[in-house]
Amino acid sequence: MPGILAITEVKENSFRKASFEVVSEAVRCAQNLGTEATAVVIGSGVEAIAKDLGKYGVKNVVVVDDAKLENAYTPPLAEAIEQIAKAKESDYVFFPATLQGKALSAITAARFQRAAVSDCTETHCDGGELTLKRPVYAGKALETVKPLQKPAFVSLRPNVFAAEEAATEAQVEKMDVSFSDKAFLAKITDIKKAEEQKPDLTEAAIIVSGGRGMKGPENFNLIEDLASALGGVNGASRAVVDAGWRPHNEQVGQTGKTVSPQLYVACAISGAIQHLAGMRTSKVIVAINKDADAPIFQVADYGIVGDVFEVLPAMIEEGKKL
Ligand code: FAD
Repeated sequence: MPGILAITEVKENSFRKASFEVVSEAVRCAQNLGTEATAVVIGSGVEAIAKDLGKYGVKNVVVVDDAKLENAYTPPLAEAIEQIAKAKESDYVFFPATLQGKALSAITAARFQRAAVSDCTETHCDGGELTLKRPVYAGKALETVKPLQKPAFVSLRPNVFAAEEAATEAQVEKMDVSFSDKAFLAKITDIKKAEEQKPDLTEAAIIVSGGRGMKGPENFNLIEDLASALGGVNGASRAVVDAGWRPHNEQVGQTGKTVSPQLYVACAISGAIQHLAGMRTSKVIVAINKDADAPIFQVADYGIVGDVFEVLPAMIEEGKKL
C-alpha cells in the first residue's frame, strides 16, 4: 500500500532526536490518511537499533545496513532512499529538517524530478491529502503547500512535532540496495568533535542567547550561567559571532541555526528580522532589552525592559532554586 516513509538520522549509532519526531508524525499522518508509515534506517551497523523505533508507534522499519556506508556522505544515502521509495511506492517521504535531512530531501526529490517542501512546521491531512505549512520570508509569513505530484518530499523542522511514545512491536525488514560508482566519490574523512559535549542547539529544549548588548565576550558567563541554571544551552546573535565573541555553531538566525525550543531567552538582542527567522517558532520567547521599542518585544511572550547586567544575575539566582 502506498504510504509514508520516515527517514531517520543516525549519529554515533544512536538516533538523533529529530528522527523520533519524524517517525511519530509520519505515523500520525498515515493514520489520518488511512495508509501506513514505514521508518527507514540507513547506515553501517544500524540494524541493532532499528527495532527501537517501535517505541514511536511505527510497525514497519526498513533497514539498509552496509559497511560501505560508514561515514558516508549524502549521495549513497539518497540512492538508497530512492530505491526504497520506489519499492514501497511511497506517496510521501518525510525527513528531519536537519542539515543532513534538508540536503537529502532536496537530492532525493531531484532524483525524482520533484521539488522538496522544506522546513515544515505543520501538517494537515484533510480529505485524504497532505497539506503542509512552512515559514517563508524569514518567518514573516506562513506558506501553505499541497504537493500535487507523488512521491512528495517533505522535511519537518526539529523540535516542532511531538515524538509520541507508543509500545509498538516493529517489524524490521532488511533491504539490499545497489550503489552507483558515483555514490562514493566523496566521503567524510574526519569529524572534529566540539570540546564541550552540549546538546545541539537545534534539539535543545531551552536556549539562552546573548547579543551585542552583552558588551563583550567576558560577560557571556551570565548567558552560560542562566542556561545551565535552567538546564539549557547558550546561543548567540550574528553580531556576537561576527565579533568573534562566540563560535559560529552558537549562531541563531537566517545564516545560523533554526531553533524551536520550548523556551528561548533573548538577552540584549535587538530582534533583527534575520535573527527572528531562526527563533520565532520557539514555544515561549522571553526578551530582556533596555530599549522598550526593540523589535524583539514584538515576538516575545514575556518582555523585561531592563539592563541585562541587573536582570540576568537575579534570574540566575532564581533559576538555581528550580
Ligand atoms: P544589536 O542589533 O546591536 O542589538 C543589541 C541590543 O542590545 C539592542 O537592542 C540594545 O537595546 C540592547 N542592549 C544594549 N545594552 C543592553 C543592556 N545593558 N541591557 C539590555 N539590553 C541592552 N543576525 C543574527 O542574529 N543571526 C543571523 O543568522 C543573521 N543573519 C544575517 C544574514 C544577513 C544576510 C544579514 C544582512 C544580516 C544577518 N544578521 C543575522 C544580522 C542582523 O541583521 C543583526 O545585525 C544582528 O542580529 C544584530 O545582533 P544583536 O541583536 O546582537 O545586536
